[in-house]
Amino acid sequence: MDIPRIFNITESAHRIHDPFTPEKLATLGAALRLEPGTRVLDLGSGSGEMLCTWARDHGISGTGIDLSQLFTEQARLRADELGVADRVEFIHGDAAGYVAEDKVGVAACVGATWIGGGVAGTIELLARSLRSGGIMLVGEPYWRQSPPTEEVARGCGARFISDFLLLPERLASFGGLGCDVVEMVLADQDSWDRYEAAKWLTMRRWLETNPDDELAKDIRAELTLAPERYARYGREYLGWGVFALMSR
Ligand code: SAH
Repeated sequence: MDIPRIFNITESAHRIHDPFTPEKLATLGAALRLEPGTRVLDLGSGSGEMLCTWARDHGISGTGIDLSQLFTEQARLRADELGVADRVEFIHGDAAGYVAEDKVGVAACVGATWIGGGVAGTIELLARSLRSGGIMLVGEPYWRQSPPTEEVARGCGARFISDFLLLPERLASFGGLGCDVVEMVLADQDSWDRYEAAKWLTMRRWLETNPDDELAKDIRAELTLAPERYARYGREYLGWGVFALMSR
């Protein structure tokens, strides 16, 4: 049970598998005014940077679930490195349908809302783990500007223009799902570069050490195309943010 291997290759050197820098992740942690001892659930926890750094900086405890064996191992190593392994645990598995036994103060799904079948389903899923008055975190793309054509949307990695909303509509949509938006931290083009451009050096190094791998051709093609495609499409059109929500 694992995610497609290509992600374990291209993002093997990422600590944060989304367009946030460590500074933005810290800004979000501070913005939430976390009390020490708050329990945090993270569906699709990746390499665990959010839970580990917030455990160190704010004294939270947490559980992360992720389908990537590699990222889960990296998360456990990071918890050891930051001295928080007694407060955060990382489970390798499918987070679809996962509900915490003890309700949490913060329930997050950051950059992985397919786990709940989209934003609406993810909010429903997170709410089942949340104590009353708790905060949900949803990390999700939005359009910085409307793609003029479906081709541009596909260049951004979307299937259709309709996959994402403009920021005002994205924010308004949470109201329709019964939630107040109580905080948000947004990516910017520089922080997107850290997510996307970091893949290029990882791919180049991987190709040098794995020239005969069955995925070498795909990775080669991706490294050739990705920088221009990113500058033309994603960097211009795609926004991303983490939205903090409370039930109305
Ligand atoms: N929240 C993390 C990771 C975001 S990337 C961060 O922001 O750094 C998306 C993550 O979802 C990847 O780590 C991937 O392994 C994980 N994932 C994909 N499908 C999943 C599933 N069904 N259950 C749990 N994790 C999943």
